[in-house]
This record gives sequence, C-alpha cells and structure tokens, in this order.
Amino acid sequence: AKPVRPLVAGNWKMNGLKASLGEIAAMAQGCDASLRDAVDLLVCPPATLVAQAALSAAGTPIAVGGQDCHAKANGAHTGDVSAEMLADAGATHVIVGHSERRADHGETNEAVRAKAQAAHRAGLVAIVCVGETRAEREAGRTLDVVRGQLAGSLPPGATARNLVVAYEPVWAIGTGLTPTTDDVAEVHAMIRRELESGLGGEGAAVRILYGGSVKPSNAAELLAVPHVNGALVGGASLKADDFLGIAAAY
Ligand code: PEP
Repeated sequence: AKPVRPLVAGNWKMNGLKASLGEIAAMAQGCDASLRDAVDLLVCPPATLVAQAALSAAGTPIAVGGQDCHAKANGAHTGDVSAEMLADAGATHVIVGHSERRADHGETNEAVRAKAQAAHRAGLVAIVCVGETRAEREAGRTLDVVRGQLAGSLPPGATARNLVVAYEPVWAIGTGLTPTTDDVAEVHAMIRRELESGLGGEGAAVRILYGGSVKPSNAAELLAVPHVNGALVGGASLKADDFLGIAAAY
C-alpha cells in the first residue's frame, strides 16, 4: 500500500485570543523544509480566530480549521457557525464529533454525520472523532463502541481527501494518560478494516489520527504504531514549540 502522508492537527478548544496568533506565526517560522516534506500541519483555533489565523497562515505550510460546524449552511441558529462560514473565513478542515461536543452538547452519531456531510458540502475536510469512555474500556467494549461510532458518524461518499478519522479515547484527553501502543494498534487496525470495507481502496488511504495526551515526549512512540497516520493534539498544540516537537517525530 502507498504510504499515507501524516497529519498533525492542533485543537485549541476554547483557548486563544488575538495574541495567540503569534503561536501560528511561530509554527510557520519553525516549520523547516524537512518537516514540511514529512507532514501536513493543521491548527484549529476557536471560531473567533479562524479568519485571522487563516490570514496569518496564508503562504505557510500551516492549514487552519474549525472545531465544529452546524449541519445547515445558514438560518435561524443563534450562536452556531456553518461549514460554509468556516470555508469563507479560510478554513480547509473542520473537526466534528469531538468527545467534548458529544458530551457537552449531546451530539449523537447522526448529528455528527450530518456535520461531516455539511463539511463536504462546503468543500472542507471533515475530521470525525471517535473514542470510548473509561467505563466502556473497562467493560471490554472499546472495539464495539468505536465500530458503532464509525458506522453512525461517517458520511456517505467520503474519500481519502475529504475524510480524516481521529481515535481519541475520552479518558486519555487532557489527563496525561495514554493507552498502550498495543491498545492503540488494535483500535487503529479495526478502524482501517472498517474504512476499507466501507470505502474500498479509498479506505486504505484515509488518515487515522491518534488523540489524547500526545506531547513531544510520547509522540515518537505513538506515531510509530501501525495505522497511526498522525495526531490530534489538544493542550500541546497551544505552544509552537510543543506542537512542532510533536510533528518532529516524523
Ligand atoms: C483533544 O481534545 O483533541 C485532545 C487530544 O486533547 P489533549 O491533547 O489535551 O489530551
């Protein structure tokens, strides 16, 4: 199979003011030719900063994405942001179905799928997040839970160019805990099989990111796991040095 070009994506969550745009400039500055050759880089700042971040990142190897979108293109949905608006602001990607959205906003698999379809309608890459809770892992249900999330959340007609899957165990997010590399390998291999059975040849090339407490010191080990094609990084994406330190694992 052709090697899959890795993606290291940062999720700033509800962090970042205008002053934080300097980190994006520093990321672009620190992204040398060898890093640029090895990996795609993406930063997803809060919606308030997407347009300015896209301006700061223009002409650099850093792409900019949103953290969520509404399923509709426009309308009476106070406070929501559509995929079309993100694209208009300069985003090329959007995260959908992050576990914090699923938990805080009750997003179901169906809602996540509709958001992923909205991303595609607007020409954005959808980064669809899946992952088990601690209780689900302890009950031995991880593979079933993630398989069910994939079946319910992945949009029809996805391709390797417009879909990224992020496996993020909920208990590993922001906790400093990570699964063993064997556990990551088991889940990623299952996700690959599901993608190949759903999308055929395209499924072999869809990028599958690992997310959950990735930092420079554990990136090399996690990113070397088979079928791990990059990382989705929360806390360690807020500072250019940490983010580039993770990308440098490639
Ligand atoms: C995330 O929320 O996508 C994430 C992986 O967070 P952290 O890296 O902080 O665990």
